Amino acid sequence: MSDQVTAHPVSEQNPYDYILKDFNLKNLSQIVILKHLNGLIHTDVKGFYQLVPEQIEIDFAAFSDEASGLPFPIVQVQQYPNSVKLSCRCSTPKYKLCEHQARVLYNILQRQDLLIFSTVTSGNKKLAKIAIDYGLEKEDNLDLLFNLRYENDQVTIRPKMDALQPFNKETQQNLQELLLPASKPKIKAPVKNNPGKMILVFGQHRYYNNLTVELFEAQTTKNGKVKNPLKGINPADLLFKTNDNDEVKFYSGITTFQQNYNNDQSEVEIEALKAIVKNPQQIPFYLQDSKQSVAIQASTIIAVNAHLLEVDLHLSVNQRDDYYEITGRLIIEGKSCELDNLVLVHQYFVKLNNQLYLIGRLDFLRVIGFFKKQSNKLILHKTKYPEFQKVILVPLEGSIHVDYSYLKPATKSQIEEKGFDLENEQLIYLSESEDYILLTPVMRYGNLEIPVLSKRKSRRRINWVISLPCIVMKMPNCSLSGTF
Ligand SMILES: [Zn+2]
Repeated sequence: MSDQVTAHPVSEQNPYDYILKDFNLKNLSQIVILKHLNGLIHTDVKGFYQLVPEQIEIDFAAFSDEASGLPFPIVQVQQYPNSVKLSCRCSTPKYKLCEHQARVLYNILQRQDLLIFSTVTSGNKKLAKIAIDYGLEKEDNLDLLFNLRYENDQVTIRPKMDALQPFNKETQQNLQELLLPASKPKIKAPVKNNPGKMILVFGQHRYYNNLTVELFEAQTTKNGKVKNPLKGINPADLLFKTNDNDEVKFYSGITTFQQNYNNDQSEVEIEALKAIVKNPQQIPFYLQDSKQSVAIQASTIIAVNAHLLEVDLHLSVNQRDDYYEITGRLIIEGKSCELDNLVLVHQYFVKLNNQLYLIGRLDFLRVIGFFKKQSNKLILHKTKYPEFQKVILVPLEGSIHVDYSYLKPATKSQIEEKGFDLENEQLIYLSESEDYILLTPVMRYGNLEIPVLSKRKSRRRINWVISLPCIVMKMPNCSLSGTF
């Protein structure tokens, strides 16, 4: 085919359309534009090159002009396999390009990133590279799986499935940091030590919105309602009047939130909140209405109970065609709650009715926060899933229930093959860790060993490596069966 570009206005053609036949936008040049022009176009007008793609999809874009103030109807550009159609609803007859269509072509020529929309189907390198991150490089119709988005003056390629995760080195590291438990920093025990009509209020800082915890002295009505005025109490004064260990921790826990400008979740704050919700003196707790930014008053607080939640977090893995979908739920007092439906209060609490449940571990908070943000859905392509399972899911299994719903129950012959039908054996592994000897109780099912404290469930085809330099004692008679 020659590179001669031809245009034939045909009678049945829409009067607003101009078609470049036998043409692909990737071959666009100044000469091509000039060939199809009727008159002179001034490209040096201010804002000439600042057309905005109002809509940009694979092989289609619609441009408008906000910057220059020149009259400009929306111009649509459609890339077909062998031609390009430009539509403009101005009154200029489309025997040649109208000035608006020409301006769109000049913009595409000048701003190479705009070209993405017309080159995706004809093998775009950028798309191919992005597809690898999502594990989709072998899929046939990439253009059906990705969308274009124009943001911050740039066209970016995004998967159509919002929750689909890329899983390359960088995101793997991010997800590991985000979802796996961090090595625990040691908490320094607080060093520092008669409630009358005392109440405790979980509130928020007037300007910074971070959690504040304050003690007040207040009178109550006959119905138990708090009455104004509320008189602030300094917990540090009470700290020195008690010798009770839990009370000392309670008051010093409150002081942690007095000058609190910290917006990040921290281990120190969690430990402080644990001491507070233990509430050794059974002081009534209240929660300040988050919509009220005024000072704490009787009318802006509601009674709540606060407890430390025994966190029972479940991730479910479902297989749907070529994708694995991971969703999470939290079991609170036997009730299963989807993570995106949870009401998080002050970063550390889940609120159900008038109960505040303290999530006492940072790693759980991170997992919950992550899935809330993702609308409780994380999707991976099947080619990326095994690696994700290895580096994220399996390590999480120590503390979170991971339900693999796509795994079918083993058949009788599979059970026998793996020795799961044999009697279970209880073992204790001893291992050395710095100055301590660690005892790890283990159940042996056939040829699979699972630590008793782990929430891990037995999976077929799991590769177990137990690399402890260990002695094995058999229970219950505890005779040594290994050697140093
Ligand atoms: Zn026009």
